[in-house]
Amino acid sequence: MAIPQGGKMRHHNGKPPRFPRTALHVIGALSVVVGLFAVMLVMTLLTLARLEAAEKEVVHLDQAKHAAHIVEAQIREQYIHQAHSIIEGDLSHLDHYRRAVETTKKAIAQLHDLARRPEDRREATKLAKLARLNDQQFSQRVVPAIRKHDRAATTRLHREIVPTLQRVTRVNAELSRILNGRAASAQARAKALRARTRTVALLCFSLALVIATLVVVLLSRRISKRISTLRVGAQQLSRGDLHARISIEGNDEYSELATTFNQMATDLDEHQQRLLTSQRLASIGQVAAGVAHEINNPLGVILGYVRILSRDASEKQQQTIDVIADETRLCQRIVEDLLDPARPQHLRCAQIDLSEIAREAIRRLREAGRLEDVTVNLPAETVQVAAWADEERLMQVVTNLITNAVEAAGNEGSVEVATKTTADKAALLIADSGPGFAAETVRRAFEPFFTTKPSGVGLGLAISQAIIDAHGGRITIERAPAGGALVSIMLPTTEPGGAL
Ligand code: ADP
Repeated sequence: MAIPQGGKMRHHNGKPPRFPRTALHVIGALSVVVGLFAVMLVMTLLTLARLEAAEKEVVHLDQAKHAAHIVEAQIREQYIHQAHSIIEGDLSHLDHYRRAVETTKKAIAQLHDLARRPEDRREATKLAKLARLNDQQFSQRVVPAIRKHDRAATTRLHREIVPTLQRVTRVNAELSRILNGRAASAQARAKALRARTRTVALLCFSLALVIATLVVVLLSRRISKRISTLRVGAQQLSRGDLHARISIEGNDEYSELATTFNQMATDLDEHQQRLLTSQRLASIGQVAAGVAHEINNPLGVILGYVRILSRDASEKQQQTIDVIADETRLCQRIVEDLLDPARPQHLRCAQIDLSEIAREAIRRLREAGRLEDVTVNLPAETVQVAAWADEERLMQVVTNLITNAVEAAGNEGSVEVATKTTADKAALLIADSGPGFAAETVRRAFEPFFTTKPSGVGLGLAISQAIIDAHGGRITIERAPAGGALVSIMLPTTEPGGAL
């Protein structure tokens, strides 16, 4: 059963509200899920960029291959014009041939532009050399032979041209092989990239799904468990069990709610005890008022007769009459004391010094021989603590409390009386070296007629509480740091905005 400290609770409530823990958990889980999606997105974008690069490379390689084929086709075009001139034995196609040579040069230049790697450039250069060789063979040797109408020479030279063309085909085939190889590896790369992206996306998505599901399940289980603990506590309280307390582990809004609930139950219990006390005091007051009224008259009559008897009494008789008078007056005081619980609210408040009241109460008790051999430490003469109170009533309270402390401390015990000002309250603290309050006593000490002493009446604390409450103050009992009992009184320091 967790009973939070009242002071701690109030301090906590004084703080600005924290961001709810449950919301933090949800945000945390969402961040993980969003993070996973972000990783997925970044990976997909990177892969897309690499895919694009691979596809561009394939296109580029295709273009290079195409350019190489055009070079070969152009060289063959050159050859068609050469063959025509050789077979026909005339040079009417020479112009077409020149144009074909120019086109071949352009195609070779384009191929050079597209050849990126050294091996591509090497093959492109070979093609360029073969084109040049073919042109040289035709222009420098075949054309003069045709001009001379040297048929035998043209036929021989024709046979020399053909191997050059075959070498062109072989070089082009080699270049295509190189380019195809690279295109195939780029395509394989693109395929692998696509497969990897698919796997990563699937993994991230599944992980996000698992995390989201886990968070939802765990959070809902945690929340419903906590809410059911709260509900059980609230039901216990509603059935009238004011000792019901809720214990929720952790540091979230539910544990805070449990702490607030426990504080509320403690306050409710305390208020009910006080209500019970004041109801009892009220009925005791009524009885006491009736008894006092009835007894006061015969007591007054007795005192009247005592006075008459005193007139003619001898010295010995006078001693006896004095005892009767003293005891009768004592009876009157007891009757007046009994009337006190019925009307503690009729206060005559003024600005008083709490330390002086404490010192005076101790002085009187000492004179009356009621401090026995208990050591009583009281506030120094220089200490002044202003309070707004009815001096006589307060004296009554302080006397009650110090008497209790002295009784509890017993022979050779000690009592410490201190006063101080805290915030807007004047405080009087009485600590003793006695056994302290038992748990049952703490709960019932303020009940009228509750006593653990064989000759006790059980009204001291009840009357004291009624008087302090009427002042708008507060009286509390607890275990002193040194181990005995500690009784504290808090009073207003100034008139609290009007008459009591
Ligand atoms: P009474 O003194 O007649 O018993 P009170 O109302 O003054 O009546 O006190 C009620 C009970 O509270 C006491 O019987 C005692 O058990 C307990 N009590 C009061 N003061 C102290 C104290 N200083 N130390 C221990 N117990 C105390």
